[in-house]
Amino acid sequence: MGIGIFFNVPAHGHINPTLPIVNELVKRGETIIYYSTEEFREKIEKTGAKYKPYSFSLSQGPTPSGNFVKLAGMLLKATEEVMSKEMGYIKKLKPDYIIHDSMTPWGKHMAKYLGIKAVNTTSTFVFSGETTDKVDKFRNKILKMALEAGIDQIFDIVTIKRRLKVEYGVNSKIMDLFRNQEDLNIVFSSLQFQPDGAKLGDKFLFVGPSIYDRKDASDFSFGNIEDRKLVYISLGTIANERLDFYRECIKAFSKSEFNVLISIGSKVNKKQLGVVPSNIHIETYVPQIEVLKRANLFISHGGMNSVNEALYFGVPLLILPQQSEQVMVAKRVEELGAGICITKKDIDSEYLLEKSVYIMESRSFYESAGKIGEDFRETGGYKAGTDAILNYVTDDLH
Ligand code: UDP
Repeated sequence: MGIGIFFNVPAHGHINPTLPIVNELVKRGETIIYYSTEEFREKIEKTGAKYKPYSFSLSQGPTPSGNFVKLAGMLLKATEEVMSKEMGYIKKLKPDYIIHDSMTPWGKHMAKYLGIKAVNTTSTFVFSGETTDKVDKFRNKILKMALEAGIDQIFDIVTIKRRLKVEYGVNSKIMDLFRNQEDLNIVFSSLQFQPDGAKLGDKFLFVGPSIYDRKDASDFSFGNIEDRKLVYISLGTIANERLDFYRECIKAFSKSEFNVLISIGSKVNKKQLGVVPSNIHIETYVPQIEVLKRANLFISHGGMNSVNEALYFGVPLLILPQQSEQVMVAKRVEELGAGICITKKDIDSEYLLEKSVYIMESRSFYESAGKIGEDFRETGGYKAGTDAILNYVTDDLH
């Protein structure tokens, strides 16, 4: 029986899909030490893994959305912090392997330094050279981002890179900091949904979204929500501070024939939305999987997990992306006919209602979403992911 370390970033979207695999690893006798922050302790402990707290610059504040140079600087800083703070403990523990999220370079480099195997988990699309080129002519923007980040930040990046090389032999290209690919990469999507999936090769195992009873938001009740068509609205758990958007949604649906459930997150207060009509229900956090089993439409920010979860249940989407990677997800959904992508200037109650009704009245959106859902269900799921991890890491262990 092996000991595995799991490194992840503190975000629901990155942690949620990994939990069934962790639970399965524990059931099969592995000891998993899962690094995260207090907010996620309960979720992690429910899997049987041991929660280990860690803190680093990225865990304390919002990520500089959109500027990859600034984000690269934060990832390098976090890599140095985590490696220097945790190396002593981890060396003593002598883990057999490390599993790490695609956004945690410290997982990759810690494993390399210790000479043990590592597995990458990816909860977004896989960013190959080709896919990053598609994100707003990505490469051309890097220079602009570097100028915006400023000379001090560039100097920091260069010095931390140098220190990491001297101390731990880390030799990472800037773009690799966002990918951290390994010889085995578990992707929580399907080969067909991933743009240019067929070009990726056999180091990538697509296991589909991790759908399971997360047992969260257990005090939530559907009450009187069930008798009409249900429109579910959420901007996810990070970039969800959008009172303007929630107000337009309320205005759009207040006189409609639909039941509407809005998950507003913890950054805005329900009271700021005033008294709402009885067909509209506002919550801070809902059991999204349960909601999607009943929803007719999901108005979403296009977070990869939200989109995966909706399509798994054949629910079409109206997507309002908040970040560049979400634009890519939204465009893919549109390309496959399972929803519509709208831009920020389209936040207008009449437009929202018109597009929502259009989707709910067209059979084709349900058929396309259903087809992708079928494809997701045909992947091997968390069990195939667990098998692959154990085969790979135990090759020369037991
Ligand atoms: N989620 C949930 N209830 C909510 C809002 C979100 O369970 O009220 C979950 C959702 O099911 C998904 C995750 O939080 O698994 C959000 O991840 P996503 O990648 O969609 O967006 P992010 O929050 O990372 O922007």
